[in-house]
Amino acid sequence: MSDAVQKFEEGLARVAAGFETTFAQCPDESSLRAAAAKLIGGSGEVTQLLKLMPQLPGDRRKELGQRANALKNAVQSAFDARLEGLARAARQAELDAPPIDPSLPGRGLARGALHPITRTIDALLDVFASIGFEVTDAPEIELADFNFTRLGFPPDHPATDMQDSFFVAGGEIGAPGVKRFEDQVLLRTHTSNAQVHEMSRRRTIPIACISAGKVFRRDDDATHSPMFHQIEGFWVDRGISFAHLKGVLTTFVKRMFGEQVPVRFRPSYFPFVEPGGELDVGCTICRPYDEPGSEAQRARTDACRVCKSTGWLEVLGCGMIHPVVFEHCGWDPKEVTGFAFGMGIDRIAMLRHNVGDIRLLYENDIRFLSQL
Ligand SMILES: [Zn+2]
Repeated sequence: MSDAVQKFEEGLARVAAGFETTFAQCPDESSLRAAAAKLIGGSGEVTQLLKLMPQLPGDRRKELGQRANALKNAVQSAFDARLEGLARAARQAELDAPPIDPSLPGRGLARGALHPITRTIDALLDVFASIGFEVTDAPEIELADFNFTRLGFPPDHPATDMQDSFFVAGGEIGAPGVKRFEDQVLLRTHTSNAQVHEMSRRRTIPIACISAGKVFRRDDDATHSPMFHQIEGFWVDRGISFAHLKGVLTTFVKRMFGEQVPVRFRPSYFPFVEPGGELDVGCTICRPYDEPGSEAQRARTDACRVCKSTGWLEVLGCGMIHPVVFEHCGWDPKEVTGFAFGMGIDRIAMLRHNVGDIRLLYENDIRFLSQL
C-alpha cells in the first residue's frame, strides 16, 4: 500500500471513529459549529483529505474518493441532527421554565411631580397668603366687559389693539345676541378680570385678593407663548396709599427672592391704574448686590444676558386703582382707595430655574422638566 493510501485510510478511520461522540458532547450551538468546522470546514480534516486525492494511485482513487465523500455527508448529517436537537432542547427548557423570571431586574415606577409652573404659582400664592391676601379664582373665558370695559379700556382704546386677543367663535360682534363691545366673548388677556369680579361682587371692605392662572394673547417666540400665566393682586380699603403698595410688594420680593435682593419702583402706564409703576428686583442671576462695586461682580453683570447687563429684572406692574375702575364696579372712589399689581409667572419660573426659552416649559419633555 502506498504511503498516500495509508495516510488517507488512517484519516478516514480517525474521523469516522470520533465525530459522533464529539458532536454529542457539544453543549451548545457555538461549540458544535466549531467542532464541525474542524472536520468539514475550509481547512477541516476531511477537506484536507480530499485535497490529497490527486496523489492517490489511479486504481484506488475512485473508491477512496467515494468513501471520503460519504464520510463528509455523514458528518454533515450528524451536525444537522445535533443542531436541531440543541434548538429543540433549548425551546423545551423555555417551555418547562416557570412562566415568569424573577431574576430579571424590575421596571422602576416613575414618580409624578408638580410642573415647575405649578410649583411657582404655589410659592407665589403662599407668600401673598402669608401677607394676608385671600386666594380667589376667575374665568378664563370672559366677557369683554370684565376683561376690558370695567378696567377702563373704552372699545377704541389703543390698549385693546395692543392686546391682540383670541375671540371665541360666535362671541364676536355680529354673532347672534352680541351687539355691544362689552358682550363679546374672548379668552382673557390678563388675570385683572379677577379684580373686576371680586370688586363687583363684594360690598364690604377691606378686600384683599390674589388670583393666578392662564391668560392668552397672540404672541409666539422664545420669550412669549400664546398661553402663559399671570398672578394678580389688589387691596381695597379706606385710606390705602402708595406707601401700602410699596410695603406689600417690597415684603413680597424679600420673601420670594431673599432679604438681600433690592427693589426699585419706576413710573409706567397701565390703563387701569393711576399712578402706575413697574417694580424691578436686583438680578438674581448675576447678583450685583452680593459684593457691590467689586471687579468680579462687575464682570459677572457685564456678561449677564438675563438682565442684559443692567443688574435689574422687571418683574411686575403695579399702581393705584383708577377711580373709573371703582365706579365701574360700584364703589365710590372718594370713599375707598386701593392698589393692584400683576406679574408674569412664567418669567418668575424661568428666573427660578434659569431657563432661557419659555416654550421649553410647555413641551412637556419629562427629560427636561425632571431637571428643574
Ligand atoms: Zn444679571
